[in-house]
Amino acid sequence: MIDSAVLDQAERILAQVAPKEVVIVVLPKSMSVGLSGNPGMCVKTEQQKTWITGQMDNARDYVAENLADRWNELMKAVAINTLVIKEEVFAGTPAYQSAVIWHEYGHALHEASETGNVFLFEVATLTENRSTLGDKDVRDVLNSRTAAYKGAKDPGRAELIAFLEEQWQIKLA
Ligand SMILES: [Zn+2]
Repeated sequence: MIDSAVLDQAERILAQVAPKEVVIVVLPKSMSVGLSGNPGMCVKTEQQKTWITGQMDNARDYVAENLADRWNELMKAVAINTLVIKEEVFAGTPAYQSAVIWHEYGHALHEASETGNVFLFEVATLTENRSTLGDKDVRDVLNSRTAAYKGAKDPGRAELIAFLEEQWQIKLA
């Protein structure tokens, strides 16, 4: 069930890095299948925009009743570079929640594909916030996502590798 607490939490994490015009949507567990293995996505095409709006329409039964108006407004606001995050992400640590949301915002700032630029935005922002998110929790997230970082494409791959080694002594290559 999507309630205002989970939407507020998503918006609060995004607001640390993005202007308030950027829209973030949380999709209930039951609707997340279309995202396959990914915990989130960044809307990059008109087709994805239509798909997400349809998913949100289908999800109405899983949205708290007092959120109906806010949900309608969110549906209207979906645009290119809207972020869509799975509900189950919010069962993770704040460091993990931030990693997923900031990764997706990295797609809004950079490429749609999994480039070093996108991952570097994610890991650099986590590093900047390590004191509030918890050094250990950030390191756990970085370690758990090492396989994804290894698959990073150019542009930005070399910078990502250098950053992780310098800041966290994590070796990708
Ligand atoms: Zn991605």
